[in-house]
Amino acid sequence: MHACFLMPAVKKCRYACTITFAALIFASSMAQAQQKFDAINLLKTVKLLASDSLQGRKTGTPGNQAAREYIVAAFKGMALEPVFDSYTQPFSFESRREQGKRYDGINLIGKRTGQKTPQKYIVVSAHYDHVGMKNGEIYNGADDNASGVGALLAAIDYFGKHPPEHTIIFAAFDAEELGLQGARAFINETPVPRDSILLNINFDMVSRNAQRELYAVGTSHYPQLKPFVEAVAAEAKIHVLFGHDTKGEKPGDDWTSASDHGPFHRANIPFIYFGVEDHPDYHKPSDDYENIDPAFYIDVVDFLIDAVAAFDKGM
Ligand SMILES: [Zn+2]
Repeated sequence: MHACFLMPAVKKCRYACTITFAALIFASSMAQAQQKFDAINLLKTVKLLASDSLQGRKTGTPGNQAAREYIVAAFKGMALEPVFDSYTQPFSFESRREQGKRYDGINLIGKRTGQKTPQKYIVVSAHYDHVGMKNGEIYNGADDNASGVGALLAAIDYFGKHPPEHTIIFAAFDAEELGLQGARAFINETPVPRDSILLNINFDMVSRNAQRELYAVGTSHYPQLKPFVEAVAAEAKIHVLFGHDTKGEKPGDDWTSASDHGPFHRANIPFIYFGVEDHPDYHKPSDDYENIDPAFYIDVVDFLIDAVAAFDKGM
């Protein structure tokens, strides 16, 4: 288990506490100077979205609504431009797994307008829903996928300060856990012509791996995307691996349709999906904030922003 790195290590000695606190402030300001985003804010987002009060953020629940309110407030705070009349894209669907039970979902969509080719689009996505509660236990979904939402918000902040060349649409999708429903709804009613969408970059589970490895999935389908990832990976503080995107692998090992990039792929829109290998807390009540790896996560988000910027500049 990883200890929270914000927790002061010493309780009883005031001097040591002062030192610890000063070191924290220093680390935080260094982080802000060197990083492309506010690391403290990043962790705060994951902690809040994965807190028990949000009860696992299942589509259609008050906890899911609370997550949405947090994300919308963040969008507003960073002056993200809406794509539709507002940030919300409502949709409804029937769950095949639950005898046709009807759900209402809400995607949250905004954009940063491109400075060079605004009529061409990159969609950066992360789902904000999780699986909710089962047998009285809360599935907090810290890695899956509060971590992706944190990365999404960090990227929105970055591209507000460094305007992109293409228009980047940022999508916090709902109902991923119920069958990629938010991404399907987005593809069914894209706010821009489908063939003007160059690429989907999807973040789902990006905050923990003991080997500091992150997968870039999709290059076997879209080999033209691989050099972009390789160039950024060469400078990254994490290990970037390719794979999980061919049929020859064991059942479940091909992640081509495993998250919201699936509907983009089926619509012939190239995708890159970034995510970690499955871990023991995957889809367990123990996918908690305390079990993410803050240092790794911060390095991942640094890499993800560089990757989005590289695609924006190079495509
Ligand atoms: Zn997920």
